[in-house]
Amino acid sequence: MKVAFIGLGNMGGGMAANLVKAGHAVNAFDLSGDALARAQDNGCAVFTSVRAAVDGVDAVVSMLPNGKIVASVFENDILGHAPKGTILLDCSTIDVGTARSVTAAAVAAGYDMVDAPVSGGIAAANGGTLTFMVGGTDTAFARAEPILAAMGKAVIHAGASGAGQAAKICNNMLLGASMIATCETFAMAEKLGLDLQTFYDISSKASGQNWSMTSYCPVPGVGPTTPADNDYQGGFATALMLKDLKLAMEAASLAGADVPMGARAAELYTQFDEAGNGALDFSAIIQTLKAQA
Ligand code: NAD
Repeated sequence: MKVAFIGLGNMGGGMAANLVKAGHAVNAFDLSGDALARAQDNGCAVFTSVRAAVDGVDAVVSMLPNGKIVASVFENDILGHAPKGTILLDCSTIDVGTARSVTAAAVAAGYDMVDAPVSGGIAAANGGTLTFMVGGTDTAFARAEPILAAMGKAVIHAGASGAGQAAKICNNMLLGASMIATCETFAMAEKLGLDLQTFYDISSKASGQNWSMTSYCPVPGVGPTTPADNDYQGGFATALMLKDLKLAMEAASLAGADVPMGARAAELYTQFDEAGNGALDFSAIIQTLKAQA
C-alpha cells in the first residue's frame, strides 16, 4: 500500500520505518527537517507539505503532539486532499471529543477513520511492538488492522469512534494512580524498617501486587530492570504521564465520572512536573514521596 505518515517524531519515526520494512511505500511529512532526514534514511519518500504527501495514497497515519494539531492537520490538509475512500488512522494521544469530531468530519467527507492511540513507548515504536487501542466502525477497523499490525504486537477494537482514546486515558489514569500508590507504599515500608527486596518478595505474591510494582518497580535494584535502575532516565516521561492525566480529568468531567484517585494523581504529577522533573521517568515521583514523608 501507499501510506502517508504525518508526524515522524520520537514515536512516528520508528513506526514509519516499520511500515517501510513491512513493504509499504511511505510518504513522510513533518515540520521538522531532522525528522524528515531520519525518515528518508529509513526508506520513506519525503514531502514538503501534508497535501503533497497524501496525494494518491491508500492510507494516512498520523502521530502528532495534541488534539488541536490533529484537528487542524486533518481538517485543513487531509480531508478533501487525500483520495476519497482513503483509510485514515490517527495514532496520537488526544481528547475523546476531538477524536470523535475529526472522525465525523472525515466520514462526512467520504473517508473511513479510526482513532488508534498506542500503549508502549519509543522502544516499542522502534521495535514494532506497540499495542493499539482502536475506535471506529467495524469496516474502518477491518481496513486499519493490517496497517497497524505492521507496527505493533496487538491491535484491539475498543468500540466506536473515540473508544480508542477513552481506553487509553482510562488505562493511563489507572497507571498514574497505581504508580503513586506503589511509590508511597515502598517509601512507607522503608520508614517502617522493612528491607525493600523482602517487602517486594512478599507484596508481589500478595494482594498488593500490581504492574507498577512487578513490571516497573520504582525502587532501584528491586524487581526487574526498570528506569529506576538508570537514574529514572528513559522510560515514560513525567510530562507525558501528566498530559494523559489531564486528558483523563477532562474526560471525567465531560462524562460526569467521580475519579478522586485519578484527580489526586494529576495533582501530584503536576507538582512533580512543575518542580522541573518533566523529563524524568514517571516512577521518579517516589523520590518526592520519600522526601515528603
Ligand atoms: P514528538 O514531539 O517526538 O513528535 C511529534 C512530531 O510531530 C514532531 O516531529 C513534530 O515536528 C511533528 N509535528 C508537529 N506539528 C506538526 C504538523 N502540523 N505537521 C506535521 N508534523 C507536525 O512526540 P512523540 O513522543 O512522538 O509523541 C507523539 C504522540 O504519541 C503524542 O500524542 C504522544 O502523547 C503519543 N505517545 C507518546 C509516547 C512516548 O513514549 N513518546 C507513548 C505513547 C503515546
